[in-house]
Amino acid sequence: MIGALLLGLLQALAPPVAAETLVPNELGRVMILEYHKVDQPEDRWTRTPANFRRDLETLYAKGYRLVGLNDLVDGRIALPAGTTPVVLTFDDSSPGQFRYLERGGEPTIDPNCAVGILEAFAARYPDFGRTATFFVLPGASRPNRLFNQPEYEKRKLQYLVAHGFEIGNHTLWHANLGKYSEAVVRTQIAQAQEWIGRYVPGYRIRTIALPHGVYPREVEWALRGTANGTTYQYDAILKVSGGPTASPFSSAFDTAGLPRIQALERELAYWLAYFDRTPGDRFVSDGDASAVAIPRGSRPRLRPELPSGLKVVERD
Ligand SMILES: [Zn+2]
Repeated sequence: MIGALLLGLLQALAPPVAAETLVPNELGRVMILEYHKVDQPEDRWTRTPANFRRDLETLYAKGYRLVGLNDLVDGRIALPAGTTPVVLTFDDSSPGQFRYLERGGEPTIDPNCAVGILEAFAARYPDFGRTATFFVLPGASRPNRLFNQPEYEKRKLQYLVAHGFEIGNHTLWHANLGKYSEAVVRTQIAQAQEWIGRYVPGYRIRTIALPHGVYPREVEWALRGTANGTTYQYDAILKVSGGPTASPFSSAFDTAGLPRIQALERELAYWLAYFDRTPGDRFVSDGDASAVAIPRGSRPRLRPELPSGLKVVERD
């Protein structure tokens, strides 16, 4: 009896089989989703906790699995065959992304903030993955300064790093980098990194998201440099829009401007429907992290130099 109940429960939790029927294609495109506030009510820049939960459920049911942004940039995608990587990013360190509640003296993660929702979902569906990148603002005014609980700033950044999440640079206080001189641009970026480094010493920030999606006059200023004694070097710049990114194995993969999809009801629904309709354009893993499975005849679309150790397998 208990066995039957358990079996029923397991079946209820099992993912739909649709993903298993997708043909591996590791030259397909990948969605990097961009969230802002997770709060009430739903709005242009706000996803409600319930809708965020539903996004995770929809992604999971459609065969998407979380990969870290840094892993995507490195072309390190270790997912089961038939599944598709998706990256979650959160901009502006607003309170609903990561909040502690004080219950009985001990701070606990709010089950209705983005981190709480993600962790509960990952506990229920461990094969979904458990990662996201937070593009934080260490010097912004409230409520966007490091999730708006000054007493927990350090604890939160340390928690993120210790639990497989990533921290990205989003400048010190969301400066529109197109408006400033080289010195100011570099200072905004270097100081953000320096402030984050005070809480998580030695943590290497590898990505930067442009506030408002605006580039500085020279791309180089955002990618690498030194200001006030702090040296920064980033492997990718994230834009605020542009649709799915090319595969990290494609010659079209552009780390100087990775496009993102704003996770709003309409935009998300549009792209999910697009990939349902056009599965050939979707990155589908072959289940072998050491091989890049590509459609036969598509070698010319590959990057000239693949991440080391990867072999290419052409498939029909
Ligand atoms: Zn922003």
